[in-house]
Amino acid sequence: MEKEKLLYLETFGCQMNVDDSEKIVSMLNRSGYQSTVNPSLADLIILNTCSVRAKAEQKLYSSLGRFKDLKKNNERLIVGVGGCVAQKEGERLLKKAPFVSFVFGTHNLHLVANMVSAAQEGQRLTNVDFIDNDTRLDLFPQSEADGRVSRFVTIMQGCDNYCSYCIVPFVRGREISRRSSDILDEIRRMADKDVKEVTLLGQNVNSYGLKSQGECDFSELLHKVSAIDGIERIRFTTSHPKDLSPSLISCFADMSKLCGHIHLPAQSGSDAILAKMERGYCRKEYLKNIEALKKARPDIQITGDIIVGFPGETEEDFLQTLSLIEEVEYADQFSFIFSVRPETKAASFCDNVTYREKQERLSRLQTLQKQITLERNKSFVGSIQNVLVEGRSKRGDQLSGRTDGNRIVNFTGELSLVGSFVSVRITKAFQNSFLGEYKQVSE
Ligand code: SF4
Repeated sequence: MEKEKLLYLETFGCQMNVDDSEKIVSMLNRSGYQSTVNPSLADLIILNTCSVRAKAEQKLYSSLGRFKDLKKNNERLIVGVGGCVAQKEGERLLKKAPFVSFVFGTHNLHLVANMVSAAQEGQRLTNVDFIDNDTRLDLFPQSEADGRVSRFVTIMQGCDNYCSYCIVPFVRGREISRRSSDILDEIRRMADKDVKEVTLLGQNVNSYGLKSQGECDFSELLHKVSAIDGIERIRFTTSHPKDLSPSLISCFADMSKLCGHIHLPAQSGSDAILAKMERGYCRKEYLKNIEALKKARPDIQITGDIIVGFPGETEEDFLQTLSLIEEVEYADQFSFIFSVRPETKAASFCDNVTYREKQERLSRLQTLQKQITLERNKSFVGSIQNVLVEGRSKRGDQLSGRTDGNRIVNFTGELSLVGSFVSVRITKAFQNSFLGEYKQVSE
C-alpha cells in the first residue's frame, strides 16, 4: 500500500490568504495529500505568504530558515512558496532559497497540483503570471465540503484603489468580480452539505460587480444569497467606507440573514492623513456612514483597522484618531504601526515621526480600544445570544460558536450541538470572548 503523503501548510496574513490556503488543501487532497500540523513529518511544505506589512514578509524568511534543515534531513521533501511575497519575488525566491522547489503567485493557485507533480520529478519552477483578463473568472478554485458549518466564499480578487500605503494592488492585481451565477452555485452546493453560514470575501466587497457589465451589485448579490435555502447567516469582509452604498446599508435593516457586524476600516481619524492615504473619504463622511449603519441595525458590531504613525502624522492627527475610536465605539480594532512598502506612493513620503513615537501612540490607542471592547463585552452579560455552534473551544473542553455580531462564545454542551443554532446566556465577558450557559429550549 502506498504511504500516505503529508502536507504542512503555513498561512500568513489576511482572511483572503486563509481562504486561498483552504483551496490549496482541497486541491492537494485530490492529489492524495493529507494535512499535518507537524512540518517534520511532511512530504510537502507550502508557505502562503503576505506582504502587506514588512513583518509578515520577514516571517517568510525566518520560516524558510526552519525548513532548510528539514530539507537537509529529507531530500524528498518538497517546499513551495505562494501568496503575495511569492508574487513580488518570483524567480528571485528560488535563487535566495535553493531548497525551494516551486513559487506560485496570487493568480496561479489552480496550478499548484501540477507544480507539485513537476517538483516531484525534480523540476524547480515559478509561475507568477498575472491573469488580468476574464479568463481568470474560470480559474477560481472552489472549496470542498469539509464538515464545517461556516465557510468563506471568495467573490472577487484584487483591488483598484491604490491607497498610497498599500501593496495589495501590486501583488493581487486589478479588481475582478466573480460571476454571481458561479458564486451562487458554490453556495448552493455548500448549503447541500449543511453549511449554515457564509462569509463573502474580497479586498473591497462593496464594489462587487460595478465593473462587470450585466452583473448585479453587492447588495443584490446579498439578496440572492439570502434566498438560498439552508443558508441562515451571511457575513462579508472587507468593506471600503467610500463604497458603502445606501442600498447596502439598508440590507442591515431589511435582511434577517445578514449578520449584525461590519468590518469598516477607517485607517485614521484625521482628514489630513486620510487625504495623504488617498482613502477617498473624510472623517465626516465616515461618521455619517456609521450613523446610518447604527440606525439601520441598532445593535450592529463595528470593527476596523487603524494605521498609526503614518508619515507626517502629528499628535493632533493622532488625537483625532483616538476621538474617532471613542465616537464610533468599535467592538474591536486591528491596529498597526505604518510599515513602508516599496513600490507604494507612501514609500517616498518624508517620515518625520520617530519609531518611538509610533510605538507610544500604538500603545495608547490599543489601551483605549481594549477598554472600549471590554466595556462593550461586559454589557452583554446576562443577555441571551443566538449562537451557531462551530466546534470545540480552543482549549477543547467546551463548545465554541459565534454570536450574530461575530463575538466568540464558549460554553458547556454536547458535541451533537455542533452545526446548530442554540440560545446561550452570557455569564462572563473577557477581552476576546464570552463564557456562556446553554439554555435548552423546552418543547
Ligand atoms: S482598498 Fe486600499 S487598503 Fe484596501 S486593498 Fe485596496 S489599496 Fe489596499
